[in-house]
Amino acid sequence: MGRKRIYEIARELGVSSKDLVTKLEEMGLSGMKAANSVDDDEYTLILNLYREEGKKATAEEKPAEKAAAPKPTGKPEPEVAKAEPETAGAPAKAPRVRVPHYGDPRPPVVSVLGHIDHGKTTLLDAIRSSHLAEKEAGGITQGVAAYQVDLHGKKITFIDTPGHKAFTGMRARGAQATDIAVLVVAADDGVMAQTVEAIDHIRAAGIPMVVAVNKIDKPNADVNKVLGDLAQHGLTPEAWGGDTITVEISALQGTNIEELLEMILLVAEMEDLRADPKGATEAVIIESHLSVGRGPVATAIVRNGTLSDKDWVVAGGAWGRVKALLDETGTRRVSAKPGEAVEILGFGEVPMVGTTVAVVQSQAEAKSAAAKQAEALKPKRDRRVLTLDELFANAEERVRLELVLKASSTGGLEAAKRELDTLHIEGVELGILHAGVGGITESDILLAASVTQDAFVVGFGVKPDTKAARMAEQQGVVVLSYEIIYDLVDEISRALKRRLAPEFEEVQTGVVEVRNLFKIPSGRVAGCAVVEGKITRRSHVRVLRGDKEMFVGEIASLRRFEEDAKEVLAGRECGIHLKDFDDIEIGDKLIAFDLKEIER
Ligand code: GDP
Repeated sequence: MGRKRIYEIARELGVSSKDLVTKLEEMGLSGMKAANSVDDDEYTLILNLYREEGKKATAEEKPAEKAAAPKPTGKPEPEVAKAEPETAGAPAKAPRVRVPHYGDPRPPVVSVLGHIDHGKTTLLDAIRSSHLAEKEAGGITQGVAAYQVDLHGKKITFIDTPGHKAFTGMRARGAQATDIAVLVVAADDGVMAQTVEAIDHIRAAGIPMVVAVNKIDKPNADVNKVLGDLAQHGLTPEAWGGDTITVEISALQGTNIEELLEMILLVAEMEDLRADPKGATEAVIIESHLSVGRGPVATAIVRNGTLSDKDWVVAGGAWGRVKALLDETGTRRVSAKPGEAVEILGFGEVPMVGTTVAVVQSQAEAKSAAAKQAEALKPKRDRRVLTLDELFANAEERVRLELVLKASSTGGLEAAKRELDTLHIEGVELGILHAGVGGITESDILLAASVTQDAFVVGFGVKPDTKAARMAEQQGVVVLSYEIIYDLVDEISRALKRRLAPEFEEVQTGVVEVRNLFKIPSGRVAGCAVVEGKITRRSHVRVLRGDKEMFVGEIASLRRFEEDAKEVLAGRECGIHLKDFDDIEIGDKLIAFDLKEIER
């Protein structure tokens, strides 16, 4: 019979892969992943073990929602069971019940990324033509921004604009539309510059990926080389004992497309993606344009709640009332649920990609919310802010800075990376979001913008092109270009240091003994003798009584013969009144010290 994958066994057992993996772990088979395969003996063992365990306690284990049996129609019962898993008086031996997530399972939203010509478009076409969910409606409309496919009754939404620029462009406005990324790598070419870029963009987004090793039909395809390349970039394939799921496909010939979809669904299941169709509506604009006949048109993916015809909607500064919702086949829809993509007609202006659509109750509310958001959407940073020092104006205790590094050559890039690596400054963490050879592009800017306000782009021997420069201005991203490594490292380290709150060390300047006490209206004045070094009006002091430290603080007044003194040297006497400390006694010792800023 050959090897079986865990997710296939899960399907045979009518449970989710996630539950099966958890169960196997409880039974002592840890480290199993849903995509792992097992041999015949292990397969039989798992089936037996599982069935035995299953006999002991099944009743409370499986909320109906994921079982293979016909879908439950009456909701209340499973929902109660889900919400209060522990109160059902479960016996001590009952299997662990997963803490339920809020909402219902929803389809994953997938983006396809990868190097140019590796087959992203071909793959999206292949998936669309073979698995479109709404085939009967007479084909997909031209230029659609997203479509949904169906595999054994499970849905996946694909964003039809491939590439990391589109992917990160959405994220730069703060919206995360994509749940899972498919990284396409051509088997006849291997991991290339834009593959590495894509990997870094996916990592910055913090979402899981499935690698599609494409073009395996080609005579010069070398899958092993691709796997090796991936491993080198920290993506060790499962076949080699790592975590990265890879599927060998031919997008052109339609080979293993179904297997790829399976893997996507598997990852989705592990992610346990959920949303509440009855909750607050939230949708992300993934494409928008002005149509001559239809006015502003926007495609949005519903993330939560339900978007309905006639809803009052706000997306950034744009607002309106939904005139029509259309699916990917151009069919009118009454509403759209989480994970679904729809075209929205009815906005008064074209909403920006990456903004979030919210539903409000009235026209007045829509108008005022849009006005507020338009204000908030204005670039946060001043356009003139183009130096690190301005960016680092607010000192903080700890900082983490993210940067995108571009260089004109591999050698230059490696050298710059090395130099930055050796830049150890306490309290500063420097993260490299992406490092690549070539000019500074729009996608570099977007990557920086999508991560934090503090991310910036550094070019070593390269400058931003016109589009990238404009994008940097729009997004308020700081771009720095240097010709020599030393300047780059020097300026970054100086700016970083300045960014940190200064750190001080104590430098002792003198020792003073208390010989007398005088009362004055505001407290006590100590009559002192300076026995070592000196004390100044600005000195900090440490009050010692024997071994005990009584106080650390500052001086309120320093006097010599009734006159204010700036400093008093060893061998002389003076009167000292301390700030915030009045319990001084004869015999106390005062250690005078200065605070010196430490160079980090
Ligand atoms: P994109 O730039 O990543 O979107 O790449 P495309 O999908 O446009 O594909 C680039 C070229 O590779 C086209 O000529 C495709 O026909 C070809 N191609 C894509 N997938 C395959 C495949 O699986 N096998 C072969 N032989 N060619 C492919």
